[in-house]
Amino acid sequence: MSIYDPFSVSRRDELVIERPQANRPHQGKVLAAIQAHADDIPLFCAGTVAKLLQEGYTGYLIQTTNDEKCGPTRSLGETILANEREVDDLARVLGFQQVFHLGYRNHRMDGDSALELRCRLILLFRLLRVDTVFTFNPWGHNEENPDHWVTARAVEAACWMAGMDKDYPEQLAAGLQPHAVREKYYWVARAGQPYNRVVDIGAQVEPKIAAIRVNKTQGPGGSTGSRLKAELAARGLRLPEWGDDDETADREYIRRFVIAPNFKLGQEHGLRCAEPFYYLGPSDDDRAVRDYLAEHAVPL
Ligand SMILES: [Zn+2]
Repeated sequence: MSIYDPFSVSRRDELVIERPQANRPHQGKVLAAIQAHADDIPLFCAGTVAKLLQEGYTGYLIQTTNDEKCGPTRSLGETILANEREVDDLARVLGFQQVFHLGYRNHRMDGDSALELRCRLILLFRLLRVDTVFTFNPWGHNEENPDHWVTARAVEAACWMAGMDKDYPEQLAAGLQPHAVREKYYWVARAGQPYNRVVDIGAQVEPKIAAIRVNKTQGPGGSTGSRLKAELAARGLRLPEWGDDDETADREYIRRFVIAPNFKLGQEHGLRCAEPFYYLGPSDDDRAVRDYLAEHAVPL
């Protein structure tokens, strides 16, 4: 029994600061981060995923495209392989349990079967018993990449449809149970997209930098610092704060330039560093009914 009140949106617009929690309160829960491309999770949610895995979640990484267009080599095949290996490395760096590469062609997802993608996600959500997803905002403004919104809209629909007992009955016959995803963190990928949750990742700055650094083939951070360090050296110059080795140069470039907006957002909320999300949690639409029954029911 539930009361559906489409006008009651104000609670979703209240800004919540999600802070570190002790004693692994999420033990037993499962999250899935669904990205279209190898650089999405590192840029948009790596700090929060690292935080939630430290707090007890088990995590799975689902990658929808094959990333064939994004990398410095002329070969599509080499580009796919380099990105695929970096996604596997990303999963290891952040502590994901397993990676699922769905393999749709890069930049072409708006031509793929929406039904097939949704069915594959429903199967994964039921199989892995996913409680919480991270992905793009399916209705976020200024999103120009079809891989992003196609992925997000399939995730959005699969979250509730995975909990229905008449969708894909053959999956149930194979031993799976209906299982709805109840929590969604939609990351902010473009300027102007909304957020109602700011997650304190002050303790996860280094894992976020490590995740971005893994992504050398297409990411904005990967090995830029060491490349700039070599260019400076060729002119007889160096940056003392970027250290003496390539790894330090890469990390300090990412810290200063790539995640500068995360430090700025954190400072606006009294935190060291932060990631923003549009968060949708379990519905409390039936609270009014439960409160009414608890208050008014009397013995027969
Ligand atoms: Zn992307």
